[in-house]
Amino acid sequence: MSGDDASRGLGARFAAAARGARPSKEHLRLLRSPAGKCPSCQAPGLKRYRRPDGTNVSARLAQTALVYASVPRDTIAECPSCGAQWPVFAEGPKALEPSPDVSVEVIETERSYEVDHVEPLELDNLGGMGSMKHTLTRTQEWTQTLEVNTEKAKTEDATSGADIPGIGTFSRKTEEAVKSTYSITEETRKELTREFTFEVPAHTKRNVSFIYRRVWQHGFARLRRADDATIEIPFRVAVDMTIDLAAQDTIA
Ligand SMILES: [Zn+2]
Repeated sequence: MSGDDASRGLGARFAAAARGARPSKEHLRLLRSPAGKCPSCQAPGLKRYRRPDGTNVSARLAQTALVYASVPRDTIAECPSCGAQWPVFAEGPKALEPSPDVSVEVIETERSYEVDHVEPLELDNLGGMGSMKHTLTRTQEWTQTLEVNTEKAKTEDATSGADIPGIGTFSRKTEEAVKSTYSITEETRKELTREFTFEVPAHTKRNVSFIYRRVWQHGFARLRRADDATIEIPFRVAVDMTIDLAAQDTIA
């Protein structure tokens, strides 16, 4: 089978999955390369996918699976290496809408603690004649998740959520500003390690619970447009993980 036949086959499979919509020439070239090479600079790997107003589209959906029925027809691919943009679909728009001129201020509000999970442990020294000493290490990996709540976005004239014109772009601006404030890159992973020492007295059973809590920093981005209108978009970002201890003793 020649390369052209393979390409036609892939294009037809794409069109069948996308209910008749054909891929663009550029996107077909990317799909044909197993490493997902950029059609401009040949850089491999996942590209960024967005709609013209900047709303994110799942990269895995748009690039690695042939499930194009659910990919919006105006999705634009962008190479993170060279910045090239191209339409995913043959009839799609060629580039993102120019970003409106806005300034963004990140304002922090409260912190909250959310129980992630609880790990129970029993230290049984009921039959012991002397005290029992234990040192335990707990390690937990966590992700610096960011959530931008566009549904709760509001303007001074009380327009809210999806009704705000250009909300996709403002949401993207908020995401960029918050990520830079908290030094978050895509899926920043952190690791927490703590050591605990227990001394359980004789004839005692101690039921210990390690309580893992995610620490959320809440706040909002205040975006000011060139015409001086402001938009506020709330966010929360996971900034830390804590481990607390609860213990209860049973005495024989
Ligand atoms: Zn590229």
